[in-house]
Amino acid sequence: MDSGSIRRKFLEFFEKKGHQIVPSAPLVLKNDPTLLFTNSGMVQFKDCFLGNTTPKSSRVADTQKCLRVSGKHNDLEEVGIDTYHHTMFEMLGNWSFGDYFKKDAIAWAWELLTEEYKLPKDRLYVTVFGGDKGDGLPVDEEAKGLWKAFIDEERILHGSKKDNFWEMGESGPCGPCSEIHVDLRSDEEVKKVPGKTLVNNDHPQVVEIWNLVFMEFNRKADGSLEKLPAQHVDTGMGFERLCMAIQGKTSNYDTDVFQPLITFIGEAANVKYKADEKTDIAMRVMADHVRAVSFAICDGQLPSNTGAGYVIRRILRRAVRYGFTFLDFKEPFIYKLVPVLANQLKDVFGELKAQEDYVSKVIFEEEASFLRTLEKGLKRIDAIIQEKKDKVIAGDQVFELYDTFGFPVDLTSLIARERGLSIDETGFETEMKKQKDRSKAAASKETGDWMSIGDDVKTEFTGYDSLEEDVKLVKYRII
Ligand code: ATP
Ligand code: MG
Ligand code: MG
Ligand code: MG
Repeated sequence: MDSGSIRRKFLEFFEKKGHQIVPSAPLVLKNDPTLLFTNSGMVQFKDCFLGNTTPKSSRVADTQKCLRVSGKHNDLEEVGIDTYHHTMFEMLGNWSFGDYFKKDAIAWAWELLTEEYKLPKDRLYVTVFGGDKGDGLPVDEEAKGLWKAFIDEERILHGSKKDNFWEMGESGPCGPCSEIHVDLRSDEEVKKVPGKTLVNNDHPQVVEIWNLVFMEFNRKADGSLEKLPAQHVDTGMGFERLCMAIQGKTSNYDTDVFQPLITFIGEAANVKYKADEKTDIAMRVMADHVRAVSFAICDGQLPSNTGAGYVIRRILRRAVRYGFTFLDFKEPFIYKLVPVLANQLKDVFGELKAQEDYVSKVIFEEEASFLRTLEKGLKRIDAIIQEKKDKVIAGDQVFELYDTFGFPVDLTSLIARERGLSIDETGFETEMKKQKDRSKAAASKETGDWMSIGDDVKTEFTGYDSLEEDVKLVKYRII
């Protein structure tokens, strides 16, 4: 089954169960001070769960563009290294707003996976919330009892609060959840090691595909729980992981979601995928990051030096550097992937096709701008490392790379790690603060989130308008 049919089947299945199919919300959030990007399907329904808005229908389903690169959900470091965490991914979801609860959510999830998608039952595991003393909550026996109708008890595992109690943030709607994991290992491997020991263990071939959240509480600002006025269901299934499972692959990048991009990159670089681990990672990073950057720009977030714009710039610079170092892309290249992606997803996310030229142009300018300083910056890192007696790149050197060569701090940290070094993060922050004070003193003007693009306008990295917000973001990355 190709990815288009898999997505369609999900939506049709829930439509038949009385759900209204709604469009994805934009990736970029402009009105939520607590979140920069949509990071799960439920974000657009937050107010429905809080009881502030009445939803159009009490049952909805969709596929949602998500980005997990900042704040609480930050998967950036895993992306490209593993084969199932992406920066941007689609989350398939079905919701009940005060309508059905655990019983139907569980029965339908099972029916869809095993009867429609025909995933083998003996390769599936489920988890239920195992209780938490601090919150005074017991094991979710209700969910466990419902699963027992479909699956052997030994395949039902208890999960911790971390994995099986979903919370929107420090405060807000929350509740126990039940996850579905699939074991994609070979029969031989399965015989050797039982799959249940690998669930929630970050095993690349025993992966979580679907999370069913049963929202029944609201976490108040003081940390206590209160019952929500009505019970809701919020589910999220990773579309690319589902495609991997259905298509019998062991990596998301081997599915038809990523293959067109990987093939295009491989042909341009004259490198075969799966020939070498280093070039494989670089190809995966580029195939992944172009999706995040393209959809962010298309949904209104241009790369910039501050806030959400800087997150996008960092992702793009990470991809440019992987391409430069491991695939020998010395000229802008990533922008050429935009049409490949836009054509692939034109029937689902037509917004990219509609803005294809514009998005390509922004990416081209960004790439050209960073490539002007990248090589010199890499030479500077080499020189710094050669002079080193200890294993830490000093704060003022990290700052120099940031300020003069446009190296986001997480990129310097990544390169340092590749060479067995680390960076002095606190020292970097001190330098950032000093610069901020200098800028304030000089009453320098901060540029906003926008940059000009056009043939006659050249953009250049300035590095002089960082706001405190950036420092915070940087800090999140490293911790
Ligand atoms: P994981 O434990 O694998 O990091 P998660 O528990 O953080 O996943 P949820 O917040 O439960 O993920 O999101 C629902 C579903 O979205 C997951 O079951 C998974 O299939 C998918 N998903 C989550 N993060 C990513 C990601 N970075 N890339 C691709 N799919 C993802
Ligand atoms: Mg995660
Ligand atoms: Mg998980
Ligand atoms: Mg989960």
